[in-house]
Amino acid sequence: MIPVSEQKNIIDLNPIFKGDAKNIDFSFEFSPECMDEDVNFKKPVSVTGKAYEKAAASRNSENLVMAEFILRGEYTALCSRCLEEVPVNFEYTAEYAVAPELQNEEESSVMLAPAGILDIGEAADALFFMNLPSKHLCKEDCKGICQGCGKSLNTEKCTCSGKNINPRLAVLKKLLDKQEN
Ligand SMILES: [Zn+2]
Ligand SMILES: [Zn+2]
Repeated sequence: MIPVSEQKNIIDLNPIFKGDAKNIDFSFEFSPECMDEDVNFKKPVSVTGKAYEKAAASRNSENLVMAEFILRGEYTALCSRCLEEVPVNFEYTAEYAVAPELQNEEESSVMLAPAGILDIGEAADALFFMNLPSKHLCKEDCKGICQGCGKSLNTEKCTCSGKNINPRLAVLKKLLDKQEN
């Protein structure tokens, strides 16, 4: 196992929690494991950020440890309509309050760092998937592919206009053909 201090996506926040440090910078790269096989990474996603102590808002509350980071990267996806490859550049930012344990069960916005150790890799991965669009389009008005002749209707003309490809109309056509026989 790699020691914690050498794992760049695992950060020991204890120096901040204990008041020995005001902030800790971090940066690392990772490759999201995307289940969508139409999404391909040509290079790893970069993560840069810092954890820092934020002074308490009021005298009764405690100082907070915050972690903020930026994910930057690029991938290619397939257009949901015409299956052309779409290059995507992204930049997502996030900011979380971090605590070694939950003070109050309701605090879902707090990121946990058990024993002061924050798995920022996991947070970065979650941020990426939270932002991953469910579909990609090569352009807003992509006309897609004709299901009859397979031509990309953005660049080519459909050559199957005679044959019906709308499934509902296809059923109707079958009925009409039956009547004719
Ligand atoms: Zn398209
Ligand atoms: Zn066609």
